[in-house]
Amino acid sequence: MQNNPHTTLVTPTAPIANNTHGGRAKCLQRLVRLDLPVPRTVALSFDAVQRIAKGELPDIAAIVSQFPEGTLLCVRPSSEDPDWGGPGAVLNIGMNEARLAALADRLGTEAARAIYTRFVQNYAVDVARLDPDVFEPVEGPEGLSEALRAYEAELEEPFPADPAEQLAAVLKSMARAWDGTSARLLRQAKGAPADAGLGLVVQEMALGLGGGNSGSGVLQLVNSETGLPQITGRYLSQSQGRDALEGDAALYLSRDPRGPSLEDLAPEAFAALKADAALMRVKLREEMQVEFVIENGQLFILDGVRVLRSSQAAVRIAVQLADDQIISRAEALMRIQPRTLSELLHRQVSPKAKRDVIGQGIAASPGAATGQIVFTATEAQASAARGEPCILVRRETSPEDIRGMHAAQAVLTERGGITSHAAVIGRGIGLPCVVGASNMRFNRSKKQLVTRDGRVFAAGEIITVDGSSGQVLAGAPEMQEAALDESFQKLMDWASEHCDIGIRANADTPTDAQTARNFDAQGIGLCRTEHMFFEPGRLTVMREMIFAETSEDRRAVLERLLPMQREDFTQLFRIMEGKPVCIRLFDPPLHEFLPTDRAGQRELAEALDLPLSDVTRRIEAMSEYNPMLGLRGVRLGVTVPEIYEMQARAIFEATVAVSAEGLAIVPEIMIPLVSARREVELVKTFIDAVAAAVRMEHDHNFDYRLGVMVETPRAALRTAEIAPYCAFLSFGTNDLTQMAYGLSRDDAGRFMSAYVQQGVFPEDPFHVLDTDGVGELLQLGAQRGREAQPGVTLSICGEHGGNPESISFCREAAFDYVSCSPFRVPVARLAAAQLAI
Ligand code: PEP
Ligand code: MG
Repeated sequence: MQNNPHTTLVTPTAPIANNTHGGRAKCLQRLVRLDLPVPRTVALSFDAVQRIAKGELPDIAAIVSQFPEGTLLCVRPSSEDPDWGGPGAVLNIGMNEARLAALADRLGTEAARAIYTRFVQNYAVDVARLDPDVFEPVEGPEGLSEALRAYEAELEEPFPADPAEQLAAVLKSMARAWDGTSARLLRQAKGAPADAGLGLVVQEMALGLGGGNSGSGVLQLVNSETGLPQITGRYLSQSQGRDALEGDAALYLSRDPRGPSLEDLAPEAFAALKADAALMRVKLREEMQVEFVIENGQLFILDGVRVLRSSQAAVRIAVQLADDQIISRAEALMRIQPRTLSELLHRQVSPKAKRDVIGQGIAASPGAATGQIVFTATEAQASAARGEPCILVRRETSPEDIRGMHAAQAVLTERGGITSHAAVIGRGIGLPCVVGASNMRFNRSKKQLVTRDGRVFAAGEIITVDGSSGQVLAGAPEMQEAALDESFQKLMDWASEHCDIGIRANADTPTDAQTARNFDAQGIGLCRTEHMFFEPGRLTVMREMIFAETSEDRRAVLERLLPMQREDFTQLFRIMEGKPVCIRLFDPPLHEFLPTDRAGQRELAEALDLPLSDVTRRIEAMSEYNPMLGLRGVRLGVTVPEIYEMQARAIFEATVAVSAEGLAIVPEIMIPLVSARREVELVKTFIDAVAAAVRMEHDHNFDYRLGVMVETPRAALRTAEIAPYCAFLSFGTNDLTQMAYGLSRDDAGRFMSAYVQQGVFPEDPFHVLDTDGVGELLQLGAQRGREAQPGVTLSICGEHGGNPESISFCREAAFDYVSCSPFRVPVARLAAAQLAI
């Protein structure tokens, strides 16, 4: 048999590999090498199993001859990755009348008959594929004859007595089950390739029934939820297979005040089991769940599988294994999926909770929250003031909703994609958010949310938004808290040691900046200043500025905004303690700051002491067919320079103010939406003039760095002429994606899933950077910019900044840093470290 490549006795040196015989066979070989008490095992390769499925059986007699005469066998699946599943194990193969008699002498009649009965039932249902209802277990001495009679009646032939015949049938049935459609779909959903193979292991049974202490169970050395050391598992006397996991009557493993334990019952076997589990942890370099059997006081190890684990446990386990020097720190880093971290950073719906799913959209900002439905930002604020958690439900959000978003626990929108307003703000402030839930209808006037199947949820009713899965749930399912513990911090420190690309955060407010600092961001890569104008008290001043008739009037109003902006920047500089802060000058079209509804316009008319008709006329005059491509970004800077001048002054005055506190700041000022060299030249000229004026007024010298946000395709193509004016170029991949595809970032959500499903786009390009098209623009822009201005700092600051795939791209293109939402900083750091290892 050793020479047969398809059926191999598992010995320390047999040629067995994960990708030829499956994970279980390989693991058993490792256990054999550790000299653990593993029952004798023969492994069948993927190839052998494939042949069996086609009807080509291996030499069954040769397999049977590997085991002592008269032993019972079991067959278990061994797929390459245990997560891909496989057919259920079949136990006690070889049972027949002769063995019944022999076993009855050894174990007693009752135990022997129980084994036989169970085998017949198992075989009838799983191998002969008879109706399970016919084989309902019958208790007591009648059980066996009843099962045999039912088998014969159904198949009109006696139950097979020949162990070789039984084994052949079991192998055939398991091999074919792997090829079944549902098994195939199930494993492909878990990431298995279409041609994933199945191996099988044939193992001598350790019975777990009969005299002395006998039974079976599982044991692991850590808690699966927390990852903390704790012996957990179950043991059931007189049991086999998965019995201990299914029944209620299992015993505790270690001594426990709540009831009898294996440790009380069989202290020696328990001690041996614990020692074996500890050895497996060290030698297999992983926390393992041990499957074991005790037969008349003697321990057998049947298998070991990776302990199932929550995200929190995954981090703790990896860090502990590294701390115990079982694996290296680099390996601990490689074992954690970056995505796992974003689960740790937010509250989540508990994996155990029942989900009553009422809608589905795009998972735009991770974490989950429960609250009562509100339909306007004002109601969200009122609800928060009453101390009642709420979910803000909007068709889509606009800057007007920001205060409502801050007041809400989560946001749900009917429209929008991964870079829509709600999504960007949600991620920025760590607020769970689902956007583009187009299978729900939002009826604002009736204040109702209607699901696809007609369920109606009124304002005030409780729902849960799960921004990690994109689901909307009725009611308040059980939650699991965020878990940032010492292990998480250690892992982050180790990641920093490997990380070879800078990680900054996109942060607009002091709170965001503080979060960025807490996650050790190396600076702020994008501060979207327009978000600062929605603070209470500022919006009206802003609107006054927009309504100013002359440049002088505008300057006068801006004078009132100046100290507020100065204070904003001073706070950001203080929080960042000398780390770089990149401030983007005002970007959006002005009319975004004006009320859209009648009531708001009436209020504005009152506040500005203007006739309502004046206000509506001005708003109409300012509205644009396509505001995303209209008067915004640097175009405002060129045509209404007073705003940028005020912002530059506020930045420089804040620099002077914090330098008096001993903080050496070199502020970075970024010009948005550039498409032509001359735009940069014009803005640079007046910003330089403001800097000179502030230096003179305060008699204080300071430096600053001016840069351009490359977010139009033309800017990317023309960096050679733009870069000479710049200390840095930061690629805004949200707008660059929007404009490269000609695809509205606010509307793409409506059809994106159809596009991805039909393979038009491999992924939502607003979510995962399109390295082919948009990536080519980035590469050209970076290369031409660097040639024209050697040493220019390159970065990306769009929502792609925190994605592992985009980070890989940026590393390869030798970018200096990526900038992402504060809550994605740890994810980005881990991803970058993994790429560097
Ligand atoms: C971008 O366009 O990539 C960007 C970061 O800016 P915003 O999302 O504010 O348009
Ligand atoms: Mg942009």
